Amino acid sequence: MADHYVAFSIPFFLLFIALESFYFWRKNRTSLRLNDSLTNMSCGIVTLIFELFTKGGLFLIFAFLSNRFGLFEWNMGSAFTWILFFFVYDFFYYWGHRLSHTVNFMWSGHLPHHQSEEYNFTVALRQGAFQDTLMFPVFIPMALMGCPIEVFATVLLLNKFFQFWIHTRAIGRVPVIEGILNTPSAHRVHHAVNTRYVDKNYGGVVMFWDKLFGTWSEEKAEEPCVYGVRKPYRSWDPISAHVDWWSRLWKDAVNTQSCTDKIKLWFMPTGWRPADVTKSDPWQPYDIENYKKYDPEVNLWQKAASVVLFTATLPIISHLLFEQFNLPLWKKMGLAAVILFCLYACAYLLKGRKRQTFEATPEASESKGIS
Ligand SMILES: [Zn+2]
Repeated sequence: MADHYVAFSIPFFLLFIALESFYFWRKNRTSLRLNDSLTNMSCGIVTLIFELFTKGGLFLIFAFLSNRFGLFEWNMGSAFTWILFFFVYDFFYYWGHRLSHTVNFMWSGHLPHHQSEEYNFTVALRQGAFQDTLMFPVFIPMALMGCPIEVFATVLLLNKFFQFWIHTRAIGRVPVIEGILNTPSAHRVHHAVNTRYVDKNYGGVVMFWDKLFGTWSEEKAEEPCVYGVRKPYRSWDPISAHVDWWSRLWKDAVNTQSCTDKIKLWFMPTGWRPADVTKSDPWQPYDIENYKKYDPEVNLWQKAASVVLFTATLPIISHLLFEQFNLPLWKKMGLAAVILFCLYACAYLLKGRKRQTFEATPEASESKGIS
């Protein structure tokens, strides 16, 4: 049922994206980058497809744990229950999000959300396909508290929807709520790769958790945020975006001679690598001063065709979301394959002919710096 709300909200998301685009065009005659924006939304659609086949299972597990082992009974007719679990969810979200940034295998799920080198409403839709599955164990204490599945699904959705409006550069600091609730300014910091901003502002709705656990940072006028990740993805492919970090970890696990490190590296802090592979296969360092955004040139026809291909997927994904419980599995898989093919073709058109290389100078090396 939750997916129905997602399907209903697609036109509103697109409307806000159009308004934001218009705002920047009016302000300084610039607009959202087509290649980046389409990839962000494509990543979101890949995630919706993946979750069509997995989210029901997670909710079933939560419901089972809550019904079988839940310690307390809650009155769903009471506003107290809903408000309490809204904030309890936000607390566990803070920790799930923090772990998603700081543990190697968890970062694999959350990384796609941070890959965009821009910051606008389309980034809010760029969600990691594996993120909710990897974060799910963090929410098990809520099930053990007896949180009804209906309440859990609702507060999860509200938390996600709240986070849409904070992904924009069009809104400056918001009076009164700045530092209390999550805002565009606070979340710009979270998406920034500047050293002073890395691993800050994990909160979903309230910033209290960041202040309590020492991860709060203000956006400083003297240091504009630079967006993206320090191991840039540099591709428009919305499918491989979800396995970019997995593939790096897997490669290191295969190449290291240390049997312990083959297992250990998945659970170590993000960016940790076995000593032998850092020598044999060093990663190119990230240089924030000289980094050039991934932005291959394509002609007007390629742009137009990519928009057509992307737009063609919208009615199909809406149909899948609305009819997911009525469609046979083969039909769902068939429609999912059509969508993935269109999105891949869209990315192929946007990459143009020339292959761009990563440009960075070797001086500014960061041993961690992944976010
Ligand atoms: Zn994050």
